[in-house]
Amino acid sequence: MNLLVTGGAGYIGSHTVYSLIEKGYGVVVADDLQTGHIEAVHNDAKFYCGNIQDTNFLDDLFKLEKIDAVIHFAANSLVGESMTSPIKYYENNVYGTMMLVKSMIKNNVHNLVFSSTAAVYGEPENIPIKEDDKKLPTNTYGETKLAIENMLKCVSCAHDFKFTALRYFNAAGAHKSACIGEAHKPETHLIPVVLETVKGKREFVTIFGDDYETKDGTCIRDYIHVSDLAQAHILAVEYLKNNNESNIFNLGNGVGFSVKEVIDTCRKVTGHPIPVRIEKRRTGDPAVLVASSSKAKSILGWQPEYTSPDTIVQTAWNWHKNQRYN
Ligand code: UDP
Repeated sequence: MNLLVTGGAGYIGSHTVYSLIEKGYGVVVADDLQTGHIEAVHNDAKFYCGNIQDTNFLDDLFKLEKIDAVIHFAANSLVGESMTSPIKYYENNVYGTMMLVKSMIKNNVHNLVFSSTAAVYGEPENIPIKEDDKKLPTNTYGETKLAIENMLKCVSCAHDFKFTALRYFNAAGAHKSACIGEAHKPETHLIPVVLETVKGKREFVTIFGDDYETKDGTCIRDYIHVSDLAQAHILAVEYLKNNNESNIFNLGNGVGFSVKEVIDTCRKVTGHPIPVRIEKRRTGDPAVLVASSSKAKSILGWQPEYTSPDTIVQTAWNWHKNQRYN
C-alpha cells in the first residue's frame, strides 16, 4: 500500500513514516518545511516540498503518485500561539485540510487518517475522557481541529470518502534509535522544555500554575509515546481499508501525571537538579486531561508499548543528548 503523509517532516509525522517504512508500506511525504525538518524524513520515503493549501501542488502529486490513503499531520499545533494568531490557525489547519480533501476527492483518494487532539474536549466533564463526551474547546487550536472533524463528517456523508480522527493526548518521547525526535521552534512543550533546562539552554522551568484542584496543584496530563501514536496510525489505515467506515479514537495511556511529577521523572532519568519557578496559569489550559483509550484498544487492537513515564522521558533524553536538528 502506498501512503501520502502530509507533515511527514514534523514530530509525530516523521515517527509515523519510520514505523510505516519498518512495516513495508510505500511512503510519500508532503511537507512545506515551515516547521518540519528535512533531516527527519526517512531516506526511503519520497519527498515533495509544498503546502497543502496549494491545490495545484496536490493535484500534481496525486497524478504522479498512486496513493491509496492519506495520513494528514500538516498543521500548526501550539496552543499559546493559536490564541494570539487565530487566523493563521484557521488558514493552515482548517483551510489547508479543506484543500487537501478537495484534491483527494477530485483524484479518487477515499481514505484519510486525521491528526486530532484532546484539545477538542476543553475542560472535561468526566475523567477518563471518552470519545462521545462534551466537546467545548478552550483554545483556538482545539477549535480548528474540532471544525475539521465536523467538516470530515459532512464530507463522508456526501462523498465516497471515509476518515478516522485520532485524538492525541500529550505526545512525548522519541524514536528508540534517537535518530529523530521532538524539535519545535519555539519549544513550548513540557518535557523538551525541561530537558533543554538540563542541557543549560534555559536557567529554569516555569510551572504554569500550582493552584489547580489537583493532587499537587499542577496540571495533570496523559503522556503517550510518539512511537505508540505512530502504530495507531497504521492500525487506523488498515481499519479504513477493512471496514470502509469513519470513526474517531482517543489515544492516551489512561494515566495522568502532574507537571511536578514529570519534572521529578526528568530529574531521576537525567540525574540533574532542575530549578523551577512558579508562574500564573497559562490561558486555555484545562486542569486535568486523561484519556479513555478503550475504544482504540478494542476496535483497532492498539496496544501501547512505551507506557512508563521513565521510558518515555529516557527516549526523549537519548534524543536530546545528541540532537541532530533543531
Ligand atoms: N507546562 C508548564 N511549563 C512549561 C510547559 C508546559 O508548566 O514550560 C505545563 C502546561 O501548563 C500543561 C502541561 O505542562 O499543564 C503540558 O503542557 P504542554 O505544552 O507540553 O502540552 P499541552 O497539554 O498544552 O498540549
